[in-house]
Amino acid sequence: MSFARRSLLAAAALALSATTAFAQDQVLNLYSARHYQTDEALYANFTKATGIKINRVDTDDAGLLARLKSEGASSPADVVLLVDAARLWQAESEGLFLAIKSAVLEERIPAQLRSAPTAAGTAWFGLSTRARLVVYNKLAVKKADVQTYQDLADPKNHGRLCTRSGSHPYNLSLFGSLYEHLGAERTETLLKGMVANMARAPKGGDTDQIKAVASGECQIALTNSYYLARMMRSGKSDDREAVEKIGVVFPNQQSWGTHVNIAGGAVARHAKNREAAVKFLEYLSSAEAQNYFANGNNEWPAVPGLRPANPALEALGSFKSETIPISVVGANFPKVQQMLDRVGFK
Ligand code: FE
Repeated sequence: MSFARRSLLAAAALALSATTAFAQDQVLNLYSARHYQTDEALYANFTKATGIKINRVDTDDAGLLARLKSEGASSPADVVLLVDAARLWQAESEGLFLAIKSAVLEERIPAQLRSAPTAAGTAWFGLSTRARLVVYNKLAVKKADVQTYQDLADPKNHGRLCTRSGSHPYNLSLFGSLYEHLGAERTETLLKGMVANMARAPKGGDTDQIKAVASGECQIALTNSYYLARMMRSGKSDDREAVEKIGVVFPNQQSWGTHVNIAGGAVARHAKNREAAVKFLEYLSSAEAQNYFANGNNEWPAVPGLRPANPALEALGSFKSETIPISVVGANFPKVQQMLDRVGFK
């Protein structure tokens, strides 16, 4: 072998090993507020397909935002996964995300499930959806009395309502959406009516409200759909017995539709691996990943036309969802929070 040929081969080998080393060394730092077994398989598949390893930091949503803020420019975070538009909106408004342009995400994720686009691009994308449902005690309440969110504030339901904190992101998003549909005055009247209808002071999470309705402590409550679906699929007999006692309503089917929220993802403001971060979000929007991602938490995929095999979601059936952009609810939070304070909705 000539010297020239040998050095050419050596150079090729070097280039190849450099590429391999690069692929092996590529790591994506994921700050996730989701903690599901099924997400693990999702990350493993991404690594298999791209060679990019995923380094995951799990924490709750509030802790995640606090951490991003305190780390500032030195944050290792590349991708951020958060649940609820309220938190995504908050993170965006605090400058924690990097707006991106991705033809793939723009094509797959419906416009109403993403942040409002700016010249720089889009700050966050919905990856799964959940509905905010009404549950009621079948023995105590007529279904006809709980057809809308407005019904929760109607005097006919006096003393029946239990709820989690008014300013929890799930409720803030719902009330921010109601503000969009009803305007300021009617939203404040509605919140006042809800307070007047409470069976007890706000406490606990959505699952606690479902159980309180089943036990008869109260008769009507709000819950995100996945908590209900989880109980429907539960292996515990008392969960399934509780589900037997309650009725479920997709509110506002005769008007603007049920409030739908998202879990979503974004590229972190100071991401060091931006290209890989975008690639990961695009991967999460693929049909296979969408079904996995949504099903892992009994949610619906954000990408239209997909139906993961989930018996609880199938039992809940299809429904009409509101079509306002989920990004607009965030702008209403300061006004909604002031209303909650004024009407004493803790
Ligand atoms: Fe939740």
